Amino acid sequence: PYDVLIVGGGPAGASAAIYAARKGIRTGIVAERFGGQVMDTLGIENFISVKETEGPKLVAALEEHVRSYDVDIINLQRAESITRGELVEVKLAGGATLKSKAVIAATGARWRELNVPGEKEYRGKGVAYCPHCDGPLFKGKRVAVIGGGNSGVEAAIDLAGFVGHVTLIEYDTKLRADAVLQNKLFSLPNVTVIINAQTTEVTGDSQKVNGLVYKDRATSVDHHLELEGVFVQIGLLPNTDWLKGSDVELSKFGEIKVDAHGQTSMAGVFAAGDVTTVPYKQIIIAMGEGSKAALGAFDYLIRQ
Ligand code: FAD
Repeated sequence: PYDVLIVGGGPAGASAAIYAARKGIRTGIVAERFGGQVMDTLGIENFISVKETEGPKLVAALEEHVRSYDVDIINLQRAESITRGELVEVKLAGGATLKSKAVIAATGARWRELNVPGEKEYRGKGVAYCPHCDGPLFKGKRVAVIGGGNSGVEAAIDLAGFVGHVTLIEYDTKLRADAVLQNKLFSLPNVTVIINAQTTEVTGDSQKVNGLVYKDRATSVDHHLELEGVFVQIGLLPNTDWLKGSDVELSKFGEIKVDAHGQTSMAGVFAAGDVTTVPYKQIIIAMGEGSKAALGAFDYLIRQ
């Protein structure tokens, strides 16, 4: 068995693996796709100390760093369930079961997509999901934010500080964000809010986004908005299906609840990164949380 088995090979999992291996304990990492969301990222400008890089380049560096330690890397395997007997057992979709004294869940999350024409085509060419990551690229430009929950309204307020104009589009007949956020939003001069509107297409000139089409749900009339960026803010889905029915407690959003040491509600099981309740989903945060969960797991092991 392993001393520490990490499930997930994104920044959180890679960081946990390095911190665990450096303790000289038997470490394994199993991932559906090593690199995680970073593989889908074009430009990264907020990974501190690296002014500018690209996702696949950062993933290659992560993998090289992990491989320089004695870590078992099991790539292209999906975990399906977790149980605990004397050891924690992780069952893989391929049929195998991995056993470990401690497990770190770092299976990340994915952005909910609109699933409309143009969204995939212009991803990274005007279609964005993370205002902290890509917001500054739209300085002075016109953008739309899709989604009127807390994250959409926060994104609109954030972006309004430096873009030219923000149009917030909400499907429902009212915004769902907290009242204080809505008050702030409606006080801003360069924000327009459109409710009861369904985004049906992202348009572009084949190189980059030049607008979007929404349908007024009251009249069924289509409207075209000219703009340079579309931020989709309709939810972040944590990858916790494999934990459903286990002793690992999830929040109402499906995120793993962790304490300050990364410990979950299940003995010997820790978690880190976008899959947890930790706020602000970013690479640098996921890495910090991964190292913390590994140290938490090590502390747990020396007390057994
Ligand atoms: P992930 O990166 O999501 O990794 C999860 C890992 O778990 C993957 O290896 C996955 O294959 C694996 N996995 C999932 N389910 C299972 C399972 N059942 N069994 C086994 N393995 C599983 N952040 C920034 O800081 N700066 C940016 O510029 C930036 N740009 C972004 C652009 C895009 C398009 C996206 C999508 C995200 C961006 N982010 C950015 C966010 C950043 O990528 C995430 O915060 C970060 O990757 C989270 O790391 P993680 O390790 O927690 O999870």
